[in-house]
Amino acid sequence: MIRLSSLALLTLLPLVHLEAQAASPLTLELVIRVSTCRGKPVRDAAWVKAHVDGANKVFAPHGIHLSYTREIFKPPRCNLITRQHRHELATHVKPGAVTVLIMERIQDLDTPSYNLMGVHWRYRGQVPGLMGRRWVFMTSRARPPVLAHELCHYLGLRHDPAGGNLMTPGPSDPIWKRGPRPKPYKSVLNASQARKIRARIRRIIAARPAATTEKLTNPK
Ligand SMILES: [Zn+2]
Repeated sequence: MIRLSSLALLTLLPLVHLEAQAASPLTLELVIRVSTCRGKPVRDAAWVKAHVDGANKVFAPHGIHLSYTREIFKPPRCNLITRQHRHELATHVKPGAVTVLIMERIQDLDTPSYNLMGVHWRYRGQVPGLMGRRWVFMTSRARPPVLAHELCHYLGLRHDPAGGNLMTPGPSDPIWKRGPRPKPYKSVLNASQARKIRARIRRIIAARPAATTEKLTNPK
């Protein structure tokens, strides 16, 4: 039998009550790999931390926390222009880990004058062993909400045509001309979006022990 003094009980009760109300905390581990160009990483450790902090601010109200390890890697090229250039990066993605690749520049596929800040990408190249591999790209020009937005794509969310949240369609989306116009962007998630990504994170966490035994693909 556990004995508690009445004072301890009084202190404990409000805590128990609060915990039952809040969503149980989930930690999503990221592997953030910063590419090097001309011999140095395209962005430094402080930049990476600022972006993770920014995403954590968006996720915190929903009991989601991002932790990360930072690695440096040499990409096949600094500027990604074509689809194929993006696919080439698949071998730099850790299988089973939620990987973010930081690149110097990624050109938009439809609007060559536009450089992306980030994109969720899925391998659709020629190598069967890499099929299904997907990851988040961020570029050196990204601003902090970009990581949260692209991770939400990774976690299964689409753009929300109603807008007013993190998944509001981007400025190049035809919906802004075609209408009905979405509500302006806000760096918040609605309850349904949060529920969906929490379910996905739970599945990623459940699959983790098997995933960590896999090794990085090392192409010859
Ligand atoms: Zn998007």
